[in-house]
Amino acid sequence: MTRKFFVGGNWKMNGDKASVDGIVAFLNQSGGNDSVDVVVAPPAPYLTYVKEHLKAPVEVAAQNCYKVPKGAFTGEISPAMIKDLGLKWVILGHSERRHVFGESDALISEKTVHAIESGLEVIFCIGEKLEEREAGHTKDVNFRQLQAIVEKNVDWSHVVIAYEPVWAIGTGKTASPEQAQEVHAWIREFLKEKVSSDVAEKVRIIYGGSVTAENCAELGKKPDIDGFLVGGASLKPDFVKIINARN
Ligand code: PEP
Repeated sequence: MTRKFFVGGNWKMNGDKASVDGIVAFLNQSGGNDSVDVVVAPPAPYLTYVKEHLKAPVEVAAQNCYKVPKGAFTGEISPAMIKDLGLKWVILGHSERRHVFGESDALISEKTVHAIESGLEVIFCIGEKLEEREAGHTKDVNFRQLQAIVEKNVDWSHVVIAYEPVWAIGTGKTASPEQAQEVHAWIREFLKEKVSSDVAEKVRIIYGGSVTAENCAELGKKPDIDGFLVGGASLKPDFVKIINARN
């Protein structure tokens, strides 16, 4: 089974119109890559601007959304609004949402269910903190975070799982290809046991955490690493090298 390589760029809360123009320009110049799904996630105010200016075959994702279509939830955006802009992707469960904004497994699973039911594709992020890894709880934490959506019987054809060890995000400390492969293989086994062999075989599991143009090729050679979610390096022209990591 060949899973199509997937590279996401999470811009987080970075950029202004001038720098967004620069990113869009290098993406447009790159012309895309037919063998890779590329999705970039600008901050919400720039979603439409980026969508309208991208000529390369690159999809645009929101970085978050809430669990209901509309209502008195100041500051939130809904999957219905994301769809209304002509977009089809959203990132959910990012470690900054979990650990800076205190989002629980339960809330993230409700948001994931609602996003999928609303017709969005979800980049669902999981990952352990450094103290959890050092205490030998890597497997437990990732399985617990995944279990929250396994229990909801989601349609897995709309999910890309991003394994992002928290200790590797924005730290310059990347998981080794072996460390990442080990967790990706566990995740696939977990899906096989809890969901189905078919889902385990088809779902893309991407790695995130200080991926750069320098380390992407080795990570991308591992059999269970189906792409990357890239933060800092997605703001720079080097992102194009990461898109082409397998070429
Ligand atoms: C991220 O924000 O999802 C991420 C992986 O960031 P970075 O690549 O900067 O570590």
